[in-house]
Amino acid sequence: MRPKSQRRLLFPSPSVLSGAEREPQVNDFESLSKKALGEGAFGEVYKVRHKISKELYAIKVVSKQKVVSANLLPQLRREIRIMYSLSHPHIVKLYNHFEDDNNFYLVLELAEGGTLWQRLARFKSFDEASAAQYIRELILALEYLHSRDPPIIHRDIKPENLLLDKEGRDGRIKVADFGWSNFFNAERTRMTYCGTLDYLAPEMINQQGHTTSLDLWNLGVLLFELLTGSAPFQAPTQAAMFEKILKVRVAFPKNFPPLAKDLISRLLRAIPDERLSLIEVMNHPWMQTHQPIRPTMTQTVQREALPCQLEAGDETSDIASEDPIKPFQETEYRVLSKINNPREEEKKLEVVPSPQNKSPSPVKQAKQQAPSNLENELKQTRDENKKFQEQIDDKEAELSRVNTRIQELENIVAKLDAEYEDKRKMEKSLKDQLAEKSNRNAELAELQEDESKLYTEYEGLRAKCLEKETELNLLKTEIENMEKLSKEKTQQASDLERDVDRVKSDIDQTKMKYNKSKSEIQEQFAKISGEIDELQRSLGNKDRDSSVVSVEALLAFTQENLDILKNRARVENELLKQYQDANERLIQLDNKYSEMRLAYENYLNELKKHSVNREAEFGNIKPANINSQGELESIKDRLRECIGKQYSNKLLNEELVHLQSLVNQYEKSLGLAKKQSQDLDYLRQVNQKKSSSQQYYKK
Ligand code: AMP
Repeated sequence: MRPKSQRRLLFPSPSVLSGAEREPQVNDFESLSKKALGEGAFGEVYKVRHKISKELYAIKVVSKQKVVSANLLPQLRREIRIMYSLSHPHIVKLYNHFEDDNNFYLVLELAEGGTLWQRLARFKSFDEASAAQYIRELILALEYLHSRDPPIIHRDIKPENLLLDKEGRDGRIKVADFGWSNFFNAERTRMTYCGTLDYLAPEMINQQGHTTSLDLWNLGVLLFELLTGSAPFQAPTQAAMFEKILKVRVAFPKNFPPLAKDLISRLLRAIPDERLSLIEVMNHPWMQTHQPIRPTMTQTVQREALPCQLEAGDETSDIASEDPIKPFQETEYRVLSKINNPREEEKKLEVVPSPQNKSPSPVKQAKQQAPSNLENELKQTRDENKKFQEQIDDKEAELSRVNTRIQELENIVAKLDAEYEDKRKMEKSLKDQLAEKSNRNAELAELQEDESKLYTEYEGLRAKCLEKETELNLLKTEIENMEKLSKEKTQQASDLERDVDRVKSDIDQTKMKYNKSKSEIQEQFAKISGEIDELQRSLGNKDRDSSVVSVEALLAFTQENLDILKNRARVENELLKQYQDANERLIQLDNKYSEMRLAYENYLNELKKHSVNREAEFGNIKPANINSQGELESIKDRLRECIGKQYSNKLLNEELVHLQSLVNQYEKSLGLAKKQSQDLDYLRQVNQKKSSSQQYYKK
């Protein structure tokens, strides 16, 4: 039995599910070369031989961890499901699949000739006849895919995904890699972006959704590449490439065959509906001029699930149906599932034992030995007996067939029950997960609301901050201007101070001069007055006549001098007054200047205080702003995380829907099986009644 720790991620293969064989294991195969045949995005493909049947296969080993971490499990399941539903000579067959702790294993039909890409790389390009043959074989495969119900679009037709069954010129196309393909659903046109850039169709770039005509675009690109060895659209950047594809600017080389050019131009149409259909491609003159160089393989349609059976008469089928993954002994293990082997089916039919071939019953033998006429009556009775016996034999055979069938059905019912239970459990766990996801979605909505609130707040703060910043800058300019003005004023003040000092010293000097000249005048005045007094005194004492004239003249002269001196004193007094006025004005000016200076300094201080306040205010706003931004970033991170979770929700949802449909299917088949088992019970009862009445009759 599979160890409990191992968690199965894929469904069992059809052959295992039907009980035809047990699940294969890695050591059922021997590797034929250490080197892988090729490498895909999630693992390698190896050439192997099945140890018992000696058949060759290609095993695709896909890393579980890579698939799960890239969330590609549903895609892998889809790829496997699609491949099981396909059976066509130009499509690589999937025979079986299994898994262990580390990997998934896909047992594929071996394509010995490698990929068309490798062949193209070797020959650089193909001649028209070979290219037409490859296209013809590919059309057969695509016709088969597109005619399925619902249609299957491959979506990744390119030389890397086209294998060749043999090496050399005779290799036929085998379409591989259904990783991107999907059932086309007209109601929900696919919006998935997939494929390689060279083969990207306009509808994929425009994300318009696509139909089967997507594969026809790829067919056009492929034909161009097969004939030229390079892709039709080439550009240095992705944007330029997209533009070329959307405008369908194909770089046909000179001397490109005109008919092939016509065909490619009819396939490479930006509007999908304008592209040729597969039949129209087949009938295009270029295809007609290059008739098949080898017969194309006929299509064998296999719509049923993989009929993986053990060889006829194999006794292990019961064990297999009991537990599909129960390990078999090597000798018990007969075949690895293969479909489409009608000859084996026939073989099986031949060996199924027929009730008519059974040996005659002992009653019949006894009846053949009837000896005489007297025994006619007895013969009649025996004939009747014989008939009854034959009926009994028939019924017994039928009963044993019915019993076998009942047993089979009971096994199936038990298996379905177990699977149903598993699915129920899985459904429950998925529902739990979904509930959790919806909680997360609610959380996400709350977070989004928070974010928008915070964002508005943040925007408000930012605007306020900017306003304050502008205000602050204006203030700073104002202060700068004031400071400049203050410097100028200080300069002017010191100039003025210097002038005042000079004027003051002038005034002092003049004062000194004035005082000196005043004292000189007073001195002279006193001297002259003394002289006059002396003269008057001498006049009184001497003879007046002789000297009176000269004294009077002297007096007049002295008087004149005195007047001059008085005049000078008056002028100097006026001057002094003027100086005093000037001094007074100067003092007034000085006072006014001091007042002005004080007022200006006060204003400057006021301004500075204001600026400091603004700066503090600005500083207060800034940290708040920074905090909000940090918070916003963290919310954005959480938002991104939630969006990621939402995406995984979506995937889980899809899986749930798929599982639900599986559960429904199981429920249906379980009901059917139960109904059959009831019918069989009833049949068994009828048979029992019949056989007891026969017993009674025999007696
Ligand atoms: P895939 O992972 O399907 O893209 O395969 C990777 C490579 O493995 C291909 O490019 C082929 O070279 C090789 N390969 C895949 N499938 C087969 C096969 N059935 N037979 C031979 N080679 C194969």
